Amino acid sequence: MSLADEQADAAWSFDTLAVRAGQERSQFNEHSEALYLTSSFVFENAAQAAARFSGTEPGNVYARFSNPTVSTMQERLAALEGAETCIATATGMAAILATVMSLMKSGEHIVSSRSIFGATQQLFGTILPRFGVDTDFVDQGSVAAFRAAMRPTTRLVFIETPSNPLTEVFDIASLAQVAHEGGALLVVDNCFCSPALQRPLTLGADLVIHSATKYLDGQGRVLGGAVCGSKALTEEVFKFLRTAGPTLSPFNAWVILKGLETLSVRMKAQSANALELAQWLEAQADVTRVFYPGLASHPQHALAMRQQASGGAIVSFEVKGGREAAWRVVDHCRLLSITANLGDTKTTITHPASTTHGRISAEARTASGIGEGLLRIAVGLEAPADLKADLARGLG
Ligand SMILES: *Cc1c(COP(=O)(O)O)cnc(C)c1O
Repeated sequence: MSLADEQADAAWSFDTLAVRAGQERSQFNEHSEALYLTSSFVFENAAQAAARFSGTEPGNVYARFSNPTVSTMQERLAALEGAETCIATATGMAAILATVMSLMKSGEHIVSSRSIFGATQQLFGTILPRFGVDTDFVDQGSVAAFRAAMRPTTRLVFIETPSNPLTEVFDIASLAQVAHEGGALLVVDNCFCSPALQRPLTLGADLVIHSATKYLDGQGRVLGGAVCGSKALTEEVFKFLRTAGPTLSPFNAWVILKGLETLSVRMKAQSANALELAQWLEAQADVTRVFYPGLASHPQHALAMRQQASGGAIVSFEVKGGREAAWRVVDHCRLLSITANLGDTKTTITHPASTTHGRISAEARTASGIGEGLLRIAVGLEAPADLKADLARGLG
């Protein structure tokens, strides 16, 4: 039985698909997926070249259009998200840009959560308006606030859930309804949960965006991105990408593909570590508040537990004493890495007010709840006891 037959035949579970989906063995019958580090492909004859170029014969032509290693990664991620298709991109931002450029035109409108990745906010707020695409940023997570921002020209509703750094949770199913009632599409940046913890398409979202740079690679090695959804929508994204160029390199696709094989176990273990750390932080005298969807104290704990398999691996907390106290915690870390990156097996710590959110005005920061005493931790795979000891040094 061929590998393709096995896949069609078996209703494999998530963990199995993460290891097996999408592989096509070459004539050498390799066990680990081959890395096809080639930019172009050779044709049998002139007629085949013509047929490949015109699309009448399927097959690879040039790696800006397709490459077997990239295709394998796309199939595997599509299987994990429960998507018909997945299109890989050079970075997470390229996935967001390609989605907007392929599905929108001048005069149309985006309704976006304010709590989104900084570069996405910049793209929507400062670059797209030059091309006649305007965005209304919704400050509150309520479904009513999103509904009120809809216009007849709204084409996309865009959210990230849980949000960065305050782990605000957005109701995917209800927002899908709001988008669809207004003739728009719901796009969910699923970077923080990954499909191991949350599958937005099964809740009614139309497209899922990934920065594969984060949990999909999972070990901080390469940049990558993806758009997952129906064939009809992703085909438009693909047409833009193959022409405009920000496609995923085969090498990066191969690294991400191998990352997907351990995604499920990593997310389970990192979430368990995050929950333990969040509970410990809640008990510390100098910590005034902990933001983690897996804690009963989180205002949207019930919603989070409905749409996510666990709380995820991002924990934020507020310390007494503002910036000085927060920086003391950071500067006493010997184990936690001081970096804004997340999704790594190595735990990282960042002070959002002076780094990731440093370019936002102080008033806007305060309005969105990002205080001077706030710290964000992206929990990795180290022993929780060692993480606690590292944080305890700078607390109090
Ligand atoms: C990092 C990130 C992005 C952008 O991804 P890149 O791969 O850095 O381009 C988008 N969304 C979220 C939530 C992210 O964390």
